[in-house]
Amino acid sequence: MPEKPRICLVYTGGTIGMVEEDGVLRPPDNPEDFLDMAPELRGFVDVDTCFPMNKDSTNMNPRDWERIAREIHKRRNDGYQGFVVAHGTDTMHFTASALAFAFGPNLNFPIVLTGAQTHPQVLHGDARINLIRACKVALEPLAEVSICFGDFVYRGCRAQKKDERRFDAFESPAFPPLAYITETIDIQPLAQLERPPEMAGEVNFRPHFSDGVLQVSLIPGLEPDILLESVLASGCKGVILQSFGAGNVPDRDAGEFSFEEFIGEVVGRGKPIIITSQFPAGSTLYSSYAPHQTAVNAGAIPTGNMTSAAAAVKFRWVLSLVEREIQSGVVPIGQRVQRIAKLMETKTVGELGPATVELADSVPNNVELRRVLR
Ligand code: ASP
Repeated sequence: MPEKPRICLVYTGGTIGMVEEDGVLRPPDNPEDFLDMAPELRGFVDVDTCFPMNKDSTNMNPRDWERIAREIHKRRNDGYQGFVVAHGTDTMHFTASALAFAFGPNLNFPIVLTGAQTHPQVLHGDARINLIRACKVALEPLAEVSICFGDFVYRGCRAQKKDERRFDAFESPAFPPLAYITETIDIQPLAQLERPPEMAGEVNFRPHFSDGVLQVSLIPGLEPDILLESVLASGCKGVILQSFGAGNVPDRDAGEFSFEEFIGEVVGRGKPIIITSQFPAGSTLYSSYAPHQTAVNAGAIPTGNMTSAAAAVKFRWVLSLVEREIQSGVVPIGQRVQRIAKLMETKTVGELGPATVELADSVPNNVELRRVLR
């Protein structure tokens, strides 16, 4: 019998492994039985398991991201063709982004996150099938952190949750799917474009994420003054303003509702502010509206067409990176905010890029597109 390929399954929790008791869904007491729901896996793959945690993903935090990354990193040379991470859907896109930044652009094996909308006892549900599909995808030459869910495989740092019931739970608003799940795993040529095999060097593993990030989702009439005390407290190291539209922040009614002064004051005290959007990141890279420009001119950092989740995770990652650069003397403390802005605006793992329209119009061997994507 020819040897079967091997993958490692990292089980972290989520509905995909939950049990229902008295109408309440909870992680199981013993997750070791998790693979029993899909005995057919044995037909095509040998699966080893590891169980770093057993949580509803609502309770995931940056320390958990680091832990999952370390579990994978320490096994990376153990002969696995890929890794599957079973995870709750609520924060799967955050963890996927975190793993992408932790492993960086030289990642040279698949890390596939999956989960489910229904627990394994729901006969017509998606737990078993998503697990099997993710294991298939982990055997493909897709050196990415991806989310395999329903009929799609998305770049993890481009995906976001869009529905809490339907089986197509995720979307990738500004980047096309990496693969479609049909009778075969239909990998799209674009998926390989940014990571030609010759690019793969040793993984630059940086699984650190800063604490102290405060995110505020704007509503009309929000007074920036109410935020000032929390933002200026020593525990706060950076602020995310989740804006309207394509990065637009109120800039009228100074002293009451305008954020212009707030941004200037906070950034002036060495605390960076990034601007994300409450809407799915679409094809807009930068907003041309005046309220966006005012915020940027006051010192806020735009995040292009990153998803809100990817921008938040990247911000934590960049804050931690720059802190270490300052400690080791590579970056002077006075340059902190500029350095953070530069890294936030630099595409690192495919989290940021050309507008959807450009991508849709592209053909895989389009030289111009290759230039833009790199
Ligand atoms: N609350 C669950 C979780 O994120 C939802 C799910 O898995 O679908 O763990």
